[in-house]
Order: sequence, then C-alpha cells, then structure tokens
Amino acid sequence: MKTISPELRDKYEAVIGLEIHSQLLTKSKAFSSDLAEYGAMPNTNVNEVSLGHPGTLPKHNKEAVIMAIKVGLACKCKIREYNQYARKNYFYADLPKGYQITQDNTPLCNGGHVTIHIGDEEKNIELTRIHMEEDSGKSLHDLDLNNSLIDYNRAGTPLIEIVTEPVIRSSEEAYQFVTEIRKLVRFLDICDGNMEEGSLRCDANISVRPKGREEFGTKVEVKNMNSISNVKKAIEYEIDRQIIAIENGEKIAQETRSFDALKGNTFSMRAKELVNDYRYFPEPDLPPLIVSQKMLDDIKAEMPALPEELLKRFEGEFKLSRYDATNLTETKELAKYYL
Ligand code: ADP
Ligand code: MG
Repeated sequence: MKTISPELRDKYEAVIGLEIHSQLLTKSKAFSSDLAEYGAMPNTNVNEVSLGHPGTLPKHNKEAVIMAIKVGLACKCKIREYNQYARKNYFYADLPKGYQITQDNTPLCNGGHVTIHIGDEEKNIELTRIHMEEDSGKSLHDLDLNNSLIDYNRAGTPLIEIVTEPVIRSSEEAYQFVTEIRKLVRFLDICDGNMEEGSLRCDANISVRPKGREEFGTKVEVKNMNSISNVKKAIEYEIDRQIIAIENGEKIAQETRSFDALKGNTFSMRAKELVNDYRYFPEPDLPPLIVSQKMLDDIKAEMPALPEELLKRFEGEFKLSRYDATNLTETKELAKYYL
C-alpha cells in the first residue's frame, strides 16, 4: 500500500474503540472446578462441565468475581448489584458446549475511565463496560500439516472484557491505553498481561471521518495483534487504508480484519453481514450473581495502591520528574522498593 502524505492524513480524524480480553489468574475455571492453569498437557483440564455434557451444571467462581470487581473499582466503574449471565450461542469446533456463558445487558462493571498520559497531557478514556465471560478452547492450525488440532484446556477459563467508548483518537492513545490496562491488571495480580501467550488480547474498532464532521464513519474491527506495538501498527495501517479507500471514492465495508505482523498490514476475515445472530438468552443454569455492599467494602479494603495514584504521589510528595515517576510506577515491585 502506498503511504499517504501528512497533509492528507491531517484532513481526517480517527475514531477508535478498544475491546480488551484479560484472562483471570484464578486457580479454577469460571464455572467449574477444572484447573485454569496455562501450559498444561492439552486436553487434561477438561471435566464434564467444561465439555458441556448433558446434566452438568455451572457454578459461580467467587475468586473470578472478586478479580473482576477489583478491575472495575480501579477503573472507577459502577459495580452492578444484580447480575444475570447470558448464553451467547454459536457453533465452532473450539466451543464444545455450543454456547459461551457471558454477560449481555447486565455487565458487572459500568462506566468508569482510565487515565492515559501523552507527553504532558492527560486524557481520560471512558469505558462502556467491563463484563465477565468464559473463554473458548484453542484451535491449533499449524502443528499438523493435514489437520487442525483442538485443546479444550482453555474452554471455560475466566475472562473479563473491557470495552471503551469510541473516544480514542490516535494509535498513540490506543498504545498508552493498552499499556495502562496491562500495568493495572499486573498491579492487581489478576492477569499476567502476556499478549504473546494471549492472556491479554486487544481488538481494535477503527473508523475515520473528515475533520469537523460529527457523524462516525463505518467501523472495521481488527484482531490478532500479539503485542502492544502491533496494536499501534495495525491501527496506523488501518487508518491509512481507510483514508485511501475514501479518497478513491470507495465505501468502507463493515468487516472484521486480521493483522499480519510479518507484512504489517490487515486483511479481511469476514464481512459483518455474515456474523452470527447469537440469540442471547438468560443462562438458565446459573442463579443471578448478587454483589452485596459488604462484599464491595471488603474488596475495597484489600485494594493495593494503583499506578496512577502512585504516580501523583511520586510527583507531588517526592518531587520526582514525570519521567522518573513513570518509570518507578511501571511495576508494583519497583514502586514498593522506592516507597
Ligand atoms: P458491535 O455491536 O459491532 O460490537 P459496539 O457498539 O458494541 O459494536 O462497539 C464495539 C466497540 O466499537 C466499542 O469499543 C465502541 O467504542 C467501538 N465503536 C463503535 N462505533 C465505532 C465507530 N464508528 N468507530 C470506531 N469505533 C467504534
Ligand atoms: Mg459489541
């Protein structure tokens, strides 16, 4: 693809919303006693609940709920008291039950924001929601020449999905946002934040519009970026591709695209029209999850100091430069050492 001139790029504004999946570091899976460990022998953590055998029943995992609430509190979300889970129905080989248990219209965490820093500027990235769900199994397409292999160990492991409002305006803001989220989940000890191994995954919804126009353009969803710098590269490529298409009089197709890290481009995976109708309905096998005020208070009391709070303290109280304060709040260990 030819590169575009800074003048042309400057005529447009990018609109970006991110969806981040984060694997929770619980001992057992989201709704069963199977171990949720990473890297076990394939298909060894697969009891009847994970495989969706008839007559089995899922159960809430308190540890997973606590972890999700911690993220919600850290992002200043409103935590929902009455939570109904939902079934998202679709067929895929890595989904043994034929549906995923998720939260549809009652997400656990609502609203909230994450503060990012671009140079000396501060910006709050508003969140739409954070909801809980279970992961699918994993299809392996490159281990066997003639067959696809499936590992169901991951099926049913707990995830949170963090969804932002379409308020991100550049690849750099997206880069900083994912960096903050990774820092946060690591501070909270709820996810190892490893994008290469897929314990943290980011999908980027991207559209462009002529500067000054209020109406959003058609969005494209880009998947399969396995590092934060690839999130940035994928967004930059996609912004340019969309601007060129629009300048050529083409219509942007609403579709899902995949990032190719070797070529540095994105390619079409599926058109949005062909996406399943998931036929969500309330999960009949799980009682509603009630988050009591007592539970919230107990979790609040356990919350560690968070990176943003420490950054302000290192700058304000200890009179450190922004550069030093940022470096010293990179990890909890480093921050603790300095305190
Ligand atoms: P869908 O129903 O296709 O999943 P949602 O409205 O749930 O779309 O939004 C999914 C993500 O896409 C959110 O992060 C949201 O902020 C973002 N988004 C929505 N519309 C646009 C747009 N026009 N351009 C870029 N991102 C968008
Ligand atoms: Mg959506």
